[in-house]
Amino acid sequence: MTDYDIIVVGGGPAGSTAARRAVQQGLSVLLLDKEHFPRVKPCGGGFTDHVENALDFSIEEVIQRRVYGQTIFSPSGIVVDCVRPEPSGSMVMRTEFDHLLLNKAEEAGAEVKQGERVVKASDEGNQVIVSTDSNTYTGKYLVGADGINSVVAKSLGFYKGWLKDSAAVCVEVEAEVGEEAVKRICGVPHHEEGVSIHIYFGPVPYGYAWCFPKRSILSFGAGCRQDKVQNLRGQFDEWFDKFKKTHNIDPQIVSDTSARVPFKEAAKTTVKGRTILVGDAAGFVNPYDAEGVMMAVKSGIIAAPVLKEAVEASNPVIMKKYEKAWKAEFNNTLKVGKKVAKLLFKSEKNMETICRLGAKDPVMNDVMYKMIAGLENYKTLYRTMIKRILTKHPKAGLSLYT
Ligand SMILES: Cc1cc2nc3c(=O)[nH]c(=O)nc-3n(C[C@H](O)[C@H](O)[C@H](O)COP(=O)(O)OP(=O)(O)OC[C@H]3O[C@@H](n4cnc5c(N)ncnc54)[C@H](O)[C@@H]3O)c2cc1C
Repeated sequence: MTDYDIIVVGGGPAGSTAARRAVQQGLSVLLLDKEHFPRVKPCGGGFTDHVENALDFSIEEVIQRRVYGQTIFSPSGIVVDCVRPEPSGSMVMRTEFDHLLLNKAEEAGAEVKQGERVVKASDEGNQVIVSTDSNTYTGKYLVGADGINSVVAKSLGFYKGWLKDSAAVCVEVEAEVGEEAVKRICGVPHHEEGVSIHIYFGPVPYGYAWCFPKRSILSFGAGCRQDKVQNLRGQFDEWFDKFKKTHNIDPQIVSDTSARVPFKEAAKTTVKGRTILVGDAAGFVNPYDAEGVMMAVKSGIIAAPVLKEAVEASNPVIMKKYEKAWKAEFNNTLKVGKKVAKLLFKSEKNMETICRLGAKDPVMNDVMYKMIAGLENYKTLYRTMIKRILTKHPKAGLSLYT
């Protein structure tokens, strides 16, 4: 007899969603998180409408602004305007968004224990055992939702850790600038409260810097694949100083953090015995733009019916269905995202070339917009991009591969 049907480790978007959906399937669920919420999570806090559409409750109360596209800056300063009349995403403060999702898991009936760090997990054949710094719990099945440094994944031998060529290291600074400055810097012409996210190629190798607008805060950051890092902090500071001068702001720094994020591909396996991995623990982050919230939420949703079936049948082999299901939902995004990242981040020259094409060719501009906004199948968009480059810009195309 186990304490719970399901133990979920980690109360970020992946874990909270998995917990809520599993409870809704009639399962008894324990969710453990090492932090007390609301807790800080280094993140740009931008995501596409897919997140809001996937959740079964309103997140209106935590939406800071609606996003109408992207403004992309090339290394030399070319501006690629991918702003559209309709919104395609939202900006949140992760502190608030994650707290809401955790509350929704608890409200649904999950038992939530905050401030308990999981130190070890094991699969004993007919149950899982999870040890925290203060207790031990047993469950029929386990969900590893404990992010990039997943103790669950390492304890159970999924992997030893994310290698330097598979993760990005990021600096994230939240700065209070006031609503007027947010609108002046990131506002869009056709909507009073609307904004675009700003992405800067060039300040760091194999990655980018960003300015993401909240209500009165701007989130600044820079991320770079870990094996390509030279002096991330120095490069970020240099870019940020320039930004402050250009836009005449003297912001009050609210938080200054750093974190890693998976930045290449999913874990080789996401199911082992009685355990599955979701969200960052599984490596579900787009290697092109580092968007991870959407796949975190979706993997939590996909996990629940599989867990229910496995509990009902008392058969852990059913857990394999989870891997098949998430691959059908977003493996294309991960695979194509990896190809785009390899081409785009290969050199500053490539970043410049792709931006130049995006600025002057409406078809390329549309592809860039739709990729980040998540508006079309990634495979189709990639094919359109390559075909367009080969037929209309062969010289530029050749230079991308040499
Ligand atoms: C700087 C930065 C900017 C980003 N910007 C964006 C963005 O704008 N949009 C986007 O979509 N994605 C962004 N991402 C990626 C996104 O943040 C992640 O993909 C997303 O948070 C994954 O959710 P998760 O639930 O899997 O993991 P997390 O959000 O990391 O949650 C994991 C939870 O597990 C808990 N935990 C960890 N270890 C233990 C333990 N041993 N015991 C108990 N609990 C534990 C943690 O406290 C945490 O609450 C960004 C990432 C970084 C680093």
